[in-house]
Amino acid sequence: MIPFLDLKKINALHADEIKGAMAAVIDSGWYVRGKALDQFERDYAAFIGTQHCVGVGNGLDAIDIILRAYIQLGVMTPGDEVIVPANTFIASVSAIIHAGLNPVFVDADADTLLLDQTKLEPLLSFKTKALMIVHLYGKCAYSEQIRNFCTKYHLKLIEDNAQAHGCRFEGRRTGSLGDAAAHSFYPGKNLGALGDGGAVTTDDTQLAETVRAIANYGFHKKYYADVEGRNSRLDDLQAAVLSVKLKYLDQENERRKAIAAVYDQHISHPMIRLPKNRVGQDHVYHLYPILTEQREHLQTYLEKQGIQTLIHYPVPPHKQKCFPQFHHVSLPNTEKIAIHELSLPISPVMTDDDALFVAQTINQFF
Ligand SMILES: *Cc1c(COP(=O)(O)O)cnc(C)c1O
Repeated sequence: MIPFLDLKKINALHADEIKGAMAAVIDSGWYVRGKALDQFERDYAAFIGTQHCVGVGNGLDAIDIILRAYIQLGVMTPGDEVIVPANTFIASVSAIIHAGLNPVFVDADADTLLLDQTKLEPLLSFKTKALMIVHLYGKCAYSEQIRNFCTKYHLKLIEDNAQAHGCRFEGRRTGSLGDAAAHSFYPGKNLGALGDGGAVTTDDTQLAETVRAIANYGFHKKYYADVEGRNSRLDDLQAAVLSVKLKYLDQENERRKAIAAVYDQHISHPMIRLPKNRVGQDHVYHLYPILTEQREHLQTYLEKQGIQTLIHYPVPPHKQKCFPQFHHVSLPNTEKIAIHELSLPISPVMTDDDALFVAQTINQFF
């Protein structure tokens, strides 16, 4: 049996160290905004390569609070537009709406499945204030072309790095490439906590301070709320776990890359298409998506062979029932991906033999 993602086994790799770090937090008496959080924020900022890291409650809040901070700072006004890839997890879009802004969808590139950067220009309006890129599946969505587009039109570049911790672009980490980045530490992510968690990274000191305030009742100073805030904090127990797991992230991503290399090399079924990577495009394989018109049959067949797969995602954000305002929008590539995508098992606890077994089983599908 090859599970899609064996979280128990993944965390067991570092169980003693994690338990030690959690025990230290318990003994410290500081559970919220304590030393373990300070330490993780320093560790993660150093890892990503930004001046600031602010822990928040989850990845959705990280995006939402970045946008609210920009509104607070006068960079954006409610009703402004944020260009966002249509092929993404719903949170990228919900956050924009929560913040009082309007998402404008850019379709996916049919080969890379990431945003099609040739389709950005026609989406601009006088209300466009930001471009959000999503390093979906763990693959870097950034490019010089995207940077130039944002510079040319004075847009903030926001990265949704929830699936790509540790990914690089020419040596720099994703999460340090734009003006601000949102990270999720949901347990299933490449850097996962033992519960919910998130962070914002940025070099912009004013933005970081505003994000920190909004995430803590709007307090710049304790009990003095200059801005309207909420409670969205990364607690010290999760921060301590994350500091431990961060040390092994690069190594674990290498294992994911090795699994992906086996899939790339050995999957050769005529009815299955593998997404393409642009030359030099780094990928930390949060997911390994394949495309097939026979998705349901293939999934059932693999399940019978003891291989668990998942679909990411069956309904794109603009077709969700909760967003009727976008149902008229047509984004053909994204809609096709939603029908044809199937994610194969990939994780740092899989062996090359496991991956070979998956590839060979797929090739025997008729
Ligand atoms: C997981 C995820 C989020 C949201 O993170 P949560 O911590 O679950 O709120 C946002 N964007 C993408 C692309 C994600 O995969």
